[in-house]
Amino acid sequence: MLDNFRRSTFRHGIHPEEHKDDTRDLAIRRFPFAPTLLVPLSQHLGKPAKVVVREGQEVSRGQTIAEADGFISVAMHAPASGVIRKIGRVPSISGDLVPGVYLEPYPASTQEVADGEPCRLETATPDDIISAIQRAGIVGLGGAAFPTHAKLKIPEGKSLDTVIINGVECEPYLTTDHRVMLEQTDDVFMGLRYLMKATGAGRGIIAVEANKLDAVETLRKACPADLPITVEVLQVKYPQGAEKMVIKALLDREIPSGGLPLDVHAICVNVATTAEIGRLLPHGQGIQERVVTIGGPGIVKKGNYRIPIGTPVRFALEQVGVTDDMTRVFLGGPMMGPAVSSLDVPLTKGTSGITAVTRAETGAHGERRIYPCIRCARCVDACPMYLNPSQMGILAKNECYTEMAEEFHLMDCFECGSCSFVCPSHIPLVQYFRLAKRMLRKTARPA
Ligand code: SF4
Ligand code: SF4
Repeated sequence: MLDNFRRSTFRHGIHPEEHKDDTRDLAIRRFPFAPTLLVPLSQHLGKPAKVVVREGQEVSRGQTIAEADGFISVAMHAPASGVIRKIGRVPSISGDLVPGVYLEPYPASTQEVADGEPCRLETATPDDIISAIQRAGIVGLGGAAFPTHAKLKIPEGKSLDTVIINGVECEPYLTTDHRVMLEQTDDVFMGLRYLMKATGAGRGIIAVEANKLDAVETLRKACPADLPITVEVLQVKYPQGAEKMVIKALLDREIPSGGLPLDVHAICVNVATTAEIGRLLPHGQGIQERVVTIGGPGIVKKGNYRIPIGTPVRFALEQVGVTDDMTRVFLGGPMMGPAVSSLDVPLTKGTSGITAVTRAETGAHGERRIYPCIRCARCVDACPMYLNPSQMGILAKNECYTEMAEEFHLMDCFECGSCSFVCPSHIPLVQYFRLAKRMLRKTARPA
């Protein structure tokens, strides 16, 4: 049956080495609790959550410790039973200290999670499901960390026909979604049922890259007969997992510049996010942990681990061990994941991986000498958004940020890093573009 697969894709893109063999066959294992968990109040795009606990208060695992503050915001839950030691500021990946909660887990606790008010699929209305997803604190676990419930509210005048479940996972080293599809298959289907009911979509498609055929087979075999869904195989290519690329490959629809999937009657939800919806909503629980791939040549015990939210990267690395020549750590994969400047930063809901590289590693983030642009146009051929990274790179060096945005569509760049990866001059194009966007956002912000 597996030879009948459709191998759709998009134009341009690149083929970096996958580096998934070390962890793809390793079952998810549970991680211990760190002595202190650092829970940032904003682990999502939108407004930070409002704290509803006080210092010194005992909390039980899964208890709501902060509530959503507005529609583009989600709740936070205690990742362990323990005591709230401090409400203050915690380190973040941006290098800034951000509002957060310090929680000290009780070592002797059973760390049971009590059930809350279940969201019953049979009787829940679409709005009930959307509220339950917000209360459960669910955001895009693929890395985007956008509040999932906000995607499901279809505005007046818009319509949707397809829910796409994104199991592509094209970032090198990461195998989180792969393991979730193999080990939480029923949760994925349950989550999809909630998503289809919430949006009224007539069909669902689970998209998987052709390097995970065991997951495709598992999903196809377990597919409930009453669900109008298919499992589609996409070509192995980076960045196939980006929302726009998945929609183009599956539906042959192009999201307009500055638009959303809903503009082409679709929504795209990461497969691990979908599995969490399916796992948590029937029990009225919230997210207190997530599956993370810890890999890369700098890691000794590579694997897929279910890790409490708020676990400091330093503690995680101590558990798995690092090699002597480990030089740099990324949260996520090496293509799109930011490099951590301090190992004190905690894992958040959007952390799909910890990738540690060594001196021997090169690539988009290698510390290599930068040479002048030779106008080879490799970056142009690689860019999945048909942008001109070479020209934008020159403008970025001259700080011509407005021109980059207005004439070269900088805001359509989703920072996939393909241009940097192929550049023979090692020009860190994607870093220039991130900086340019930051500068533009700063100048756009009202005083
Ligand atoms: S310009 Fe942006 S979207 Fe295009 S390849 Fe570079 S990082 Fe990716
Ligand atoms: S790939 Fe690098 S050297 Fe080639 S055109 Fe682009 S920026 Fe210039």
